[in-house]
Amino acid sequence: MMNDNLTRKGLRRADPSRPRPLSDAVLHLIWSEQRISRAEIARLAGLSRSTVSEIINEILPTGLVREIGEGPSRGGRRPIVLEFQDDACVILGIEMGGAHVAVAATDLRGRVLAWGSREHHVRKDPQGTRAIIGDLCRINLGHPSVAGRPLVGIGVAVPSPVNPSATDQLSTVVMPSWEGRLGLDDLAAELGAPILVDNDANLGALAERWWGAGQEVDHLAYIKVATGIGSGHVINGDIYRGATGVAGEIGHLAIDPQGEPCICGLKGCLVTFVGAHALEQRALELAPDHHDTTLDTGAITIRKIEDAALAGDPLALKVIGEAAEHLGTAIAGLLNVMNPSMVVLGGDLSRLGELILAPLRRTIRNRTLVTSVAAAEILVSELGHKSVAVGAATMVLKAALEDSHLFPVIAASGDAAS
Ligand SMILES: [Zn+2]
Repeated sequence: MMNDNLTRKGLRRADPSRPRPLSDAVLHLIWSEQRISRAEIARLAGLSRSTVSEIINEILPTGLVREIGEGPSRGGRRPIVLEFQDDACVILGIEMGGAHVAVAATDLRGRVLAWGSREHHVRKDPQGTRAIIGDLCRINLGHPSVAGRPLVGIGVAVPSPVNPSATDQLSTVVMPSWEGRLGLDDLAAELGAPILVDNDANLGALAERWWGAGQEVDHLAYIKVATGIGSGHVINGDIYRGATGVAGEIGHLAIDPQGEPCICGLKGCLVTFVGAHALEQRALELAPDHHDTTLDTGAITIRKIEDAALAGDPLALKVIGEAAEHLGTAIAGLLNVMNPSMVVLGGDLSRLGELILAPLRRTIRNRTLVTSVAAAEILVSELGHKSVAVGAATMVLKAALEDSHLFPVIAASGDAAS
């Protein structure tokens, strides 16, 4: 269960041995339906009308739910309709990329109310990164559409595997400068909210499942291509992490065991062919053969390669085409192993849309068992560059809907809803 992966020191949560309180189930139901009458709650939750009334009377003072007037009658008295208040609280979702930090403040329906991002050498500078995260969180919380709302929690997406049983520890292999420590406890104390941590691609997958292309899909793979490459997998509607949280690290699949050295200590990993740095290097290598290019090879970045490809630059298109082929080889393997019904491409390269999807689909078709590719839709993220940060906020929302004590308005009013 995801909830068990989200505990951290000091996080207030219900005793896991205790059955889930009915009030949590009712609150979750109102959230899912958005608007619903007490009679409908009783029917859907299999509870008596009087039990439902008791629970609603406990929930109403929290402000998470309001009575919004009368719904249509089914013969008798017109029922009062209850509405979940998406703007009752705010959630912060942080994306730590390899080379940037982004922070989203969302409401309780995944809508982004405030957004900020900054480029930074995240992998190399933990102190500076923590300072930027703090700045962006404070700026977002001061935004006019956010200010004054209670904060539920802070979700953090990290570009490293996260062990479900030790979520505050970072991989010392992928992020050696961080010495295994996320170190955001001071920020959590300052903002008075718990911090939950997961891998970036897992959270991109979660966001696509909850709000994006994969809302109706129970078997989904999300591939993030940025400085690094990772994949997140939704299986039967939930994130799959593997035994120690390493599931989905496709960036370190071996493409060429004799290839270039990788940050993980191995050689020729996929990320040495398709990661942002690899694409920049490849553009420099190919530049002498492309006098017609508009790319400024003096200060090449992945962003400039994407812009040039979108403008039809032949060098940029060649680099992207090669990347799509390598990526397609890896995704083909993944389709055969996992058999998802949808693959969502996120991260930097998703901006390219059909420019990358067309060669990707071609490679995949050539390398996949007919049955696994026929079942899979391959598309780019609808949530675009915001999916991972929104997914980080969604992780907090999901946890709060499973344990309503995480909602600060409920925690503050004691055991109102339990
Ligand atoms: Zn590697």
